[in-house]
This record gives sequence, C-alpha cells and structure tokens, in this order.
Amino acid sequence: MANNNYYDLLGVSKDATDDEIKKAYRKLAHKYHPDKSGGDEAKFKEINQAYQVLSDKSKRQQYDQFGQTFEGGGAGGFSAGGGPASGWDFSGFQGFGGQNGGFEFGGEGFDDIFSNIFGGSTSRGRRRSKGADIHVDMEIDYYEMVRGTQRELNLYKSVACDRCDGEGGEPGTGQKTCPTCKGKGKIETVRRSFFGTFSQIAECHECHGSGRIFEKKCSKCGGDGRVKEEQKIEIKIPAGISDGQTLSVSEQGEAGEQGAIAGDLLVTIHVVPHKKFKRKGLDILSTEQVPFSVAVLGGKIEIETISGSLILKIPNGTQSGEVFRIKGEGVPELGGRGAGNHLVTVVVKVPKSLSREQKKIVEQMRDQGI
Ligand SMILES: [Zn+2]
Ligand SMILES: [Zn+2]
Repeated sequence: MANNNYYDLLGVSKDATDDEIKKAYRKLAHKYHPDKSGGDEAKFKEINQAYQVLSDKSKRQQYDQFGQTFEGGGAGGFSAGGGPASGWDFSGFQGFGGQNGGFEFGGEGFDDIFSNIFGGSTSRGRRRSKGADIHVDMEIDYYEMVRGTQRELNLYKSVACDRCDGEGGEPGTGQKTCPTCKGKGKIETVRRSFFGTFSQIAECHECHGSGRIFEKKCSKCGGDGRVKEEQKIEIKIPAGISDGQTLSVSEQGEAGEQGAIAGDLLVTIHVVPHKKFKRKGLDILSTEQVPFSVAVLGGKIEIETISGSLILKIPNGTQSGEVFRIKGEGVPELGGRGAGNHLVTVVVKVPKSLSREQKKIVEQMRDQGI
C-alpha cells in the first residue's frame, strides 16, 4: 500500500466527523473513479479501503488505537512476528505449533484470539447486525446502456416486520430489565490467553446494550424484527453505464436485525453486445461499406447510428480504413453532460463481378496505371 494513513488519504483530520469523512470520500471517489478520464484505479481502491475503515465506528476505533485493523485474521492485517505497528510483540508466534510446549489454545484459532484481544467486532459481542447486501446480475441491451433505463426487480428478501415495526416486541407489551446483564447492557468476561489476562467488556447479546428487552417477542417475526417478503424495487440504470459496473442501491438489501440498518442492493450490469456497434470508452465504433465508385468519386452513404440512420458524406478519393467522426453520437458520460463520438470506419467494397462494359472501363484505368 502506497499510503498507510487513512486520514491523509481522505485528506481529513484525525478528529473528523462521520459527515466530513463521508464528504471527503465522495469527492475523492468521484475524482479518481476509474471510469472517468483522469481516473486512477489504484488510488480509487486506496480511498475505498480508507473509507471502509473510517466509516465504521469499531474499525475506526481499532485503527486509531493500533494503526490498522485485524479483520479476517492474520492475512490482511499483519504477519506474525513483524507487527510493531500494533504495539504487540508477536514474535512468540513463530513455531508455537507444539515444539514450544506449554501453550494450550484449546482449539481457538487465530481469529478468535485476536478478536478477543482487540474486542473485535467480527464474531463475538455482536450488535444488532446490519442487514446483508443482496447481489443481483442484470442484463441490458446496447440502447439501454446508451440511453439509460429503468427496471423493476422482484426480490424475495427480509424486510422490517410490519407487526412490530421491526423492533421485535409484541405490540401492546411493555419492556422489562434484561435478565442476562441485569440492565447494565454490558457483560464483562475475563479471558486468559497466551498474552496474559484480558478483561473484555462486551455488549449484552440479549438486549444489545440497551439493558431492556420486550416482555414478549413479536409473534410474527419471533423478536428478530424481520420477515421474508417479496418486494418490488425500481432500479434506475443511468445512461453511459459500463458492462460489468455495479450499481449500489443503499439500504435496499436485507433488513437489519431489530431495526438496524438494512444492507445494500448491488446490481451488476451486463450489456448485451450489439451486432454493429462496439464501445471504446465513450466512443461508439462501427464499420460501414462504401461502394468503389463512391470512394473514388465521392458521394453519400446511409449509415446507422445510435439515434437512427444518418447520411454520411464521403469525399472523393476515400481510402479503405479511413475513419469518420460523428460528433456527440457516442455514449453519454456517466453522470455528466457530455458524450463521446461515433467513429465510422469505412471499408471500400470492391465489386466481385462486372459487366463487360464495366470491365472495359476498369481495363482502361489499368492501362493508364490507376
Ligand atoms: Zn415483528
Ligand atoms: Zn442485556
């Protein structure tokens, strides 16, 4: 990674608010988007990575404290034995697989150990979990790609329960003190590990930190706050979208647990190739045949563009392979006002059979060295 400091990457101060981080990210993501001219894919990825961490409260906290996050075990975060950034000495890891003796891990993997030490948000001490993202693939044709389109999706997904408004309590019942944490909202556990003894305070899994629970769980959703339902969702596909690009419709994924934020709906667009038109950046490319005589003498041909047929003037002496540019008839810039051009490559069509008379004329030309 070129720049490890996520705050620097986003150009915000260490005490930036969530809003400031979001704004800075949007601005930069727009600037470096690989589909834009002057975009930078590597930079775009770095910015995204920085935002993933800084926009997530617990990840940001972890990052502020240790200089990096430890999601997904050792692979992405650090290598055992070389992690000074975290402030821990991991050298003891090397070769603990039995030879050292004395350590008993009781079947705990790396992930568990780390999430315990760092109070990881991955497996334990979970909060009301955010709904999962839904991934969908969608095919559109070439014209829809150029003009933009709207589609209706029928999704069978979890939505907020209408009986309890997604809260999880049976309507009409009150709340009571959570028996698991006795109303404190937190549970303290002491863990002994290889590194010493750690006391960890985790949010209560029963009441999710509020200290209170419903007296009776909702009879429709069983207290989870979600039910499965088919839902229609309108998807707006902007003009100029590229094949393989993914649209993110925020909070249209699976509903979150007990009113927590929903996941996103991610729609990956596949553009069905057109028989005649190809796309290169914002330009549309096509090939048209020009009769031999028109190429020689000049004239007009009818060509196909995205907005219908058009008369293209061919100057005399046009060569096979020459490219004509029709301004503004290309693909619109995504989210912008401009558009690319339509580039027509002409191929001079040599006649395969000639009448006797025509042959004579060509022979005359040949005799004149043409
Ligand atoms: Zn319910
Ligand atoms: Zn509780």
